[in-house]
Amino acid sequence: MTDSHGAYPREADLDAGVPLADFPDGATLVGEVRGERVLLARRGSEFLAVGARCTHLGGPLGEGLVVEDTVRCPWHHACFSLRTGRALEAPAFDALPRWEVRIVDDRVHVGERLAPDTGKGLGAHDGDAVERIVIVGGGAAGFAAADLLRREGFSGRVTMLSDDTDPPYDRTMLSKAFLQGAKKEGELGLADDHGLEGVTLRLSTRVAAIDREGRQVRLVDGGAIPYDKLLLATGGEPRTPGMPGADHEAVRLLRSLDDARAIVGRLREGARVVVMGASFIGMEAAAALAKRGCAVTVVAPQDRPMAKVFGEAISDMLRALHEENGVAFRLGRTIAAFADGEAVLDDGTRLPADLVLAGIGVSPRTDLAEAAGLDVEDGVRVDASMRTSDPAIWAAGDIARFPDPQGADPIRVEHWVVAQRQGQTAALAMMGRVAAYDDPAFFWTKQYDLSVRYVGHASAPDEIRVEGDPAARDAVVHLLEEGEVRAVATAGRDADALEASEAFRRG
Ligand SMILES: Cc1cc2nc3c(=O)[nH]c(=O)nc-3n(C[C@H](O)[C@H](O)[C@H](O)COP(=O)(O)OP(=O)(O)OC[C@H]3O[C@@H](n4cnc5c(N)ncnc54)[C@H](O)[C@@H]3O)c2cc1C
Repeated sequence: MTDSHGAYPREADLDAGVPLADFPDGATLVGEVRGERVLLARRGSEFLAVGARCTHLGGPLGEGLVVEDTVRCPWHHACFSLRTGRALEAPAFDALPRWEVRIVDDRVHVGERLAPDTGKGLGAHDGDAVERIVIVGGGAAGFAAADLLRREGFSGRVTMLSDDTDPPYDRTMLSKAFLQGAKKEGELGLADDHGLEGVTLRLSTRVAAIDREGRQVRLVDGGAIPYDKLLLATGGEPRTPGMPGADHEAVRLLRSLDDARAIVGRLREGARVVVMGASFIGMEAAAALAKRGCAVTVVAPQDRPMAKVFGEAISDMLRALHEENGVAFRLGRTIAAFADGEAVLDDGTRLPADLVLAGIGVSPRTDLAEAAGLDVEDGVRVDASMRTSDPAIWAAGDIARFPDPQGADPIRVEHWVVAQRQGQTAALAMMGRVAAYDDPAFFWTKQYDLSVRYVGHASAPDEIRVEGDPAARDAVVHLLEEGEVRAVATAGRDADALEASEAFRRG
């Protein structure tokens, strides 16, 4: 195996060094230093050495994209500084380790490990004069904002209010590794590695209203918390099915860790599961539960799963993958009722079900913003810094309707990395920095061992171009609107997704 430039074996001993003459400007190389994998990069006359594994989920940075003095992970597009190791953009938060580099006798050697960049920490919190930031929501956007305030050394007080019972966790794992049984609860925490020291986190705490005039949020339990700046990151609420029997305890939704616990709690060996909906949650849950040994049937009104998002080629690829794993599809059908332990379809078919998992869409939780009189129109309207129509209030994540960096009309999307980066943008803006969310949207779905990645935003593609062989799970799909590529989806071609994202970024 060689690195992406093909010049050195991956096991290159960087302690012993590599010849300077063989290491041209712009080159990168993955090698080992005293048992650790290191990415060595040359930028002009400078040599930079950082850890070769992404601190998010361990993605191989040697296969990532180096742009100037940054490297982007091929898996979930986290971005790091090659110079400082800092995690510049979510979904990674922890810095990469880094090493000093020496040139001795015309050889490039990686030397001692340098002190990690752990961030500056929050202010001392003494006295009442400090600025108070309150974050409503302990999910993707809320956590990323609090984390960045801490890392950037915000001198005021940060309070995070969440009506969840658990501290911030990786929601994306719930429909994948957690349902499958491949990850345990203790492995989902977002704050485990780097902590949220200095942030006051109040769980099981629901905000009932925003008092804009009095600059405070009112809690359901009667308390009130004052703020100077407020971030709303309340996310989405899964839609509940309306059929008769939908209130039976065997019919479940999936948004929180508690929801996932309840689902897992109902599963016994060989459980029969009917999944309602063939979009992200439904398809991912179907894959995870099939891998867990359940007998899974997906029921959905469309005739192809996820075709609206990815196009027919990837849709057919995903369906085939599911069928290979024993999942049955009842497409063009809906569940008309749940009765006597059976899901009754609209054509009268009865499917025995120990569990019906409904994944039929999400509504943004904009009720607080609406009641407070903020500008809300299918989402809380924000500017590029994520500021709402009230200059003291920001909004980020699933609830935010923001200026599309690639298009004319504002958009709202429901993706993990977008929510995190918007939380980071809001954090910088609340600190008074110049900040704008201008990243192309990115999301992924993982079903079995296949990850499909998507960059850009095409809400109604009118043309789809397929390169490669979707049946072999090796393809790039371009989604166009009015002759322009608006989004790119890839399977088995992570480098293409990274390149497409960079192309969108450059405009
Ligand atoms: C099972 C699952 C799997 C997913 N997988 C993927 C994936 O693979 N890739 C991808 O890109 N996206 C995925 N998503 C979508 C992604 O998780 C969301 O887009 C993202 O979490 C949105 O972040 P957010 O901060 O806006 O909201 P959330 O993460 O939902 O956080 C909202 C927070 O606000 C709190 N809250 C709400 N109202 C109140 C209130 N009134 N008072 C106090 N607290 C309140 C909630 O308890 C929660 O803590 C998945 C979603 C789910 C449910």
